[in-house]
Amino acid sequence: MQFVIKTSEREQVLDITREVQAIVSRYSLKEGLANVFVPHATAALTINENSDSKVSGDFLNYLKNQIPKGKWLHDEVDGNGDSHVKAALIGPSLSIPVQNNRLMLGRWQGIMLCEFDGPKDRTVIVNCVKTL
Ligand code: ZN
Repeated sequence: MQFVIKTSEREQVLDITREVQAIVSRYSLKEGLANVFVPHATAALTINENSDSKVSGDFLNYLKNQIPKGKWLHDEVDGNGDSHVKAALIGPSLSIPVQNNRLMLGRWQGIMLCEFDGPKDRTVIVNCVKTL
């Protein structure tokens, strides 16, 4: 199953925990694993604190400082060399344990879609498998 999220900025972190949990709830899974995947080369997924939005700001600022815009070979093609480096480092997928239809995230953890070349429509694919 999948859903689409519209991003509104070039670089942005969006909490998609609720949307992923809604799909996981449709499987009747006592014990299992949810795989979450974005089929994009300039977006990524991570898990981070979802309570204080400054955490996501720090994360984006760190990446902006470490991977600045405008110095990449790929910039000649479409000007987003930094976006591809960021997306590749963060990665396109997550595996999260599921118990009794619930994602086993910690209290402060949320599933974050990382946009590095928005605004765009981003597809998120969620698949669950039974492990017991
Ligand atoms: Zn590109």
